Amino acid sequence: MDEAEVIANKLKPPRCPKCGAEIDHLRCYEKAWSTATCYINEDYLIVEYSDWDILDVTEVEYHCPKCDEVLFESEEEARKFLKGEADE
Ligand SMILES: [Zn+2]
Repeated sequence: MDEAEVIANKLKPPRCPKCGAEIDHLRCYEKAWSTATCYINEDYLIVEYSDWDILDVTEVEYHCPKCDEVLFESEEEARKFLKGEADE
């Protein structure tokens, strides 16, 4: 891709292949194993959590922000789409 194409793609955002909307970003959803400290509060009424840490992302999806359809399942595909390199 030469510089003129890069500029042209920035001026004209890619279109969602599902709904046709012009979109300049995606919504990312991740499923992950995470860990936290779990304890009971002073009144013994509420279980509280602290020190959340993500251990391992097990699944990732990139959705259209307009129609919320799943468009991609890898960051590589999402990157290509946002750069205007996706082949439809
Ligand atoms: Zn869409």
